Amino acid sequence: MSTDSLSLDQLNVAGEDAFVALLDGVYEHSPWIARRAFAVRPAGGFASIAALKHAMARVVREAALDEQLGLIRAHPELAGKAMVAKSLTAESTNEQSKAGLTNCSPEEFARLQQLNADYNARFGWPFILAVRGPRGDGLTRQQIVDTFARRLNAHPDIERAECLRNIHRIAEIRLNDKFAVAPTLGNQVWDWAESLARFSDPGFAESGQLTVLYLTEAHRAAAAQLADWMRECGFDDVGIDAVGNVVGVYHGEHRDQQGDPADEPPRLLTGSHYDTVRNGGKYDGRLGIFVPMVCVRELKRQGRRLRHGLEVIGFSEEEGQRYKATFLGSSALVGRFDPAWLDQADADGVVLRDLMRDAGLPGTMEAIQALERDPARYLGFVEVHIEQGPVLNELDLPLGIVTSINGSLRYVGEVRGLASHAGTTPMDRRRDAAAAVAELILYVEERAGAVPEVVGTVGQLQVPNGSINVIPGRCRFSLDLRATTDAARDALDADVRARLAEICERRGVSFTLERTEAAAAAPSDAAWQSRWEAAVDTLGLPVHRMPSGAGHDAMKLHQAMPQAMLFQRGLNLGISHNPLEAISNEDAELCVRAFLALLDRL
Ligand SMILES: [Zn+2]
Repeated sequence: MSTDSLSLDQLNVAGEDAFVALLDGVYEHSPWIARRAFAVRPAGGFASIAALKHAMARVVREAALDEQLGLIRAHPELAGKAMVAKSLTAESTNEQSKAGLTNCSPEEFARLQQLNADYNARFGWPFILAVRGPRGDGLTRQQIVDTFARRLNAHPDIERAECLRNIHRIAEIRLNDKFAVAPTLGNQVWDWAESLARFSDPGFAESGQLTVLYLTEAHRAAAAQLADWMRECGFDDVGIDAVGNVVGVYHGEHRDQQGDPADEPPRLLTGSHYDTVRNGGKYDGRLGIFVPMVCVRELKRQGRRLRHGLEVIGFSEEEGQRYKATFLGSSALVGRFDPAWLDQADADGVVLRDLMRDAGLPGTMEAIQALERDPARYLGFVEVHIEQGPVLNELDLPLGIVTSINGSLRYVGEVRGLASHAGTTPMDRRRDAAAAVAELILYVEERAGAVPEVVGTVGQLQVPNGSINVIPGRCRFSLDLRATTDAARDALDADVRARLAEICERRGVSFTLERTEAAAAAPSDAAWQSRWEAAVDTLGLPVHRMPSGAGHDAMKLHQAMPQAMLFQRGLNLGISHNPLEAISNEDAELCVRAFLALLDRL
């Protein structure tokens, strides 16, 4: 640390003017942000740099619209007139030159000027992008141009919020420079995620897309890589089990003391999946493997053993992309691997049992059943996961604590009416199947919207053999209902089904509705949830509780032991199952520190 770097103590004892001066340049030409952050400085000072960052982001979020726009307009255009005239602030000059914007080719420069002009015409403010990027070491010029072009199409309200979030990211990096701190643990997470993404299935790899389906060559290479990294981190036992899970154990102090393995104190189980959806993101699932891996690397580096062993699992399959089954990896651990799955064939006719044997796995139920864990030997299961939604991003919060994984019900249905001539059938004589489903969709939207933490979606809608001049005689639809509790889910379900019956009765049409999936809600264990809360509080961050709308491996482990999850914010509006899925190194650092804090308290 250089001698002239800023310390939190200095900020915490500074008077108002000194405080504002110390934070000069963090937010471009906007000292009012530091001034208002000073006003909310806690009596004992900010608990951490993360707490300071959050306080400043909150000042901006609570500021008037004019003030927010003023902050955005205080920034220079990327590769704009100010850069050419060399009149940027020192911070901006540093960032724009690090991103290589001062070395644009004439074509790139012209393209950026055109984007600047189009963007300004559409929104009336300059395009803001944290050009040092989510890893802090700079986006490429191509990434900058691609992001610019993509965001040009956003809704103005969404784009304004995205500009502010990029301003917070710029401020975060500038603050780290001032404090001379670097998120080295988060960088490791980020770098592993980047490196593991080099394995991708044929047909996707060629175009730079990430797809890792169960037991493909890329999948097996990813597993081998994870196992290698686990060994390098200092795990004691590392192996790949009969369903392809990568399992690493870091023993507790009991083993060092040569204790009888039968008397080993219960372990903490953690992990997430390393398979991906087609053309997916680099962090979905994998984050929950990397974060505890970094923790073990840290413990090993410090020569520390915990009282309890830590078992980290990279689950081989969660997404249900290749076979008509999901959670192949975690199901085996709770004795719920369905023997019928072994006889299933994928789209190319590859039977699961044969695939397993080709991959060097036994492919027998005997071997799979042997993976079932005895809950008595575990403290519980915790899982870190990227949020996969917009909530934390909107609240400027890096971490959130999961209260429950939503229970869900899925249906496929069909309404049958009468296909008749669009011109000759009067409006009061119609049996329009699609209009009936449309009415149902609006009801689902209204009913789910009226209750907090309940969601309902009709994601598929088809008029088979529909024609522009024919009233829809049939309409097929899907229905996906989710809620934090089974009671709320079932109440929604009962209302939606009753309304469907009523709509069809009134409109003189008939319907079928087939349930295809039912998953019980998995509320977090109260004690484990509060351990996560305490861990996040230790970092000086607000404790934000939220349900998980998506299913996770923790849902399966829930059937055998207490579980609780921690969410990390996703960038790019929280988008997931998409190549735009992103995290920052800084958020990953906080996530690792939260996990370490959780381990410290065991
Ligand atoms: Zn996932």
